[in-house]
Amino acid sequence: MLRSPLALSALLLLGLCSCQTNLVPGGRGHASEYGNQPGPRGFRTVVVDAGHGGRDSGARANRQTEKTLALDIAKHLKAELEPDFRVILTRSDDRFVELDQRVVIANRYPDAVLVSIHLNHGRRWRSGPETYWWRVDSYSLAQRLQRHLTAACPHEHGHAGLVRRRLRLTRNPHIPCVLLECGYLTSRKDAALLATNTYRDRLATAIARALREQRLAGDAGMGPLPAPIFAPPSRAGDARG
Ligand SMILES: [Zn+2]
Repeated sequence: MLRSPLALSALLLLGLCSCQTNLVPGGRGHASEYGNQPGPRGFRTVVVDAGHGGRDSGARANRQTEKTLALDIAKHLKAELEPDFRVILTRSDDRFVELDQRVVIANRYPDAVLVSIHLNHGRRWRSGPETYWWRVDSYSLAQRLQRHLTAACPHEHGHAGLVRRRLRLTRNPHIPCVLLECGYLTSRKDAALLATNTYRDRLATAIARALREQRLAGDAGMGPLPAPIFAPPSRAGDARG
């Protein structure tokens, strides 16, 4: 209910602000805090985040465990990228690392990009890779990653593809960041592939190709950048991430 002209004008002002996508509502912070800038180019450092670890196993299905596969793909990826890139792993063994701590680690490298590696779970008929992004400066990289992962996967079906979602590892770091779900452990076909070293290596090669392309070309050829969405940092109570 509107109680006063002052409240009405405040509402009008809010309405005007929401149309100006370059302004941060309330004037808090700088727009780039929300990743509202072009995508990265010429970067040398990649922060590779193997999801879960330690007491947090992540998804488990078809005799596969997310934390183990994620770490293995992360290590394959590190081997693929070095020595052209400096690679920082948020964990290099089976240990628990808080999500917020992963963000803290990523923020130590202001010229880097962050790739978080996960494996999915869902209905048994779903299979194939998904890529999650939030920031404007992460959009081209996300597109490239989804494209290369899809090409590496022989039988994708019913997955969500490229998804803009505010997660702790897509919204909170101050660097471009994407979260990959490299396949569904609940899919027998995906699980059988992921159980092989060859396929995990193929996934790492696909991720590395996307990173090399992004380093070389930036946003070129990836279409117009999306509008920023202003939203507070993702917190523990939010959905997965
Ligand atoms: Zn996960």
